[in-house]
Amino acid sequence: MKALVLFSGGLDSTVCLAKAVKEYGADEVLALSVYYGQKHKKELEASEKIAAYYGVKRLELDLGEIFKESTCSLLEGSPEEIPHGDYAEQLVGKDGAPVSTYVPFRNGLFISSAAAVAISHGCSEVYYGIHADDAAGNAYPDTSSLFNKAISDAVYIGSGNAVKVVAPFVEAGKEKVVEEGIRLGVPFKLTWSCYEGEEKACGRCGTCLDRKKAFAMNGIKDPIEYMHDA
Ligand SMILES: [Zn+2]
Repeated sequence: MKALVLFSGGLDSTVCLAKAVKEYGADEVLALSVYYGQKHKKELEASEKIAAYYGVKRLELDLGEIFKESTCSLLEGSPEEIPHGDYAEQLVGKDGAPVSTYVPFRNGLFISSAAAVAISHGCSEVYYGIHADDAAGNAYPDTSSLFNKAISDAVYIGSGNAVKVVAPFVEAGKEKVVEEGIRLGVPFKLTWSCYEGEEKACGRCGTCLDRKKAFAMNGIKDPIEYMHDA
């Protein structure tokens, strides 16, 4: 196989999957979905449907144990509520600290795990869907271009120059992710971004707001339904 895609079933990783499939064909792409102790399984369910839609092989990895002591608000057992409002609002008064939905060093762990799985499957590339909106204001420090450069170098060197990390949207806003998704005909309706695990996306958590804005900037309506559309 050629490429492994870190694949949550959200919008960004689905566009990455579509890019990898277009580049190499479905038979050459492996989707890796990670359970990390999140409060709901909506994303993982979405990732199964989307992997089936594209006809790619999908693996699931359980890293939940690693985050058991974390108070990150996305995690099961956390006393923290998932905040409403966009990331800019959530960063007020944070003094450079990440938002409460930051899962401790998640991308560092996921990419290292993905690199190990990639080597075992003969994949020479690991795709992941970080973008600049998440890095703004240090909301998620493990999505910045600086982080990406460092982890890419580490993976390349540590794999004996066998694995390259590919982050197609590291310098782009989410609107570019949507734009590329439109171009590739991504089935946005199957994706799940919301941090809440209700029947419909909440429409007011940080990722719902960023997603809705990205569709609006492309002049199209997000095809999923929201509980709160304000
Ligand atoms: Zn939401």
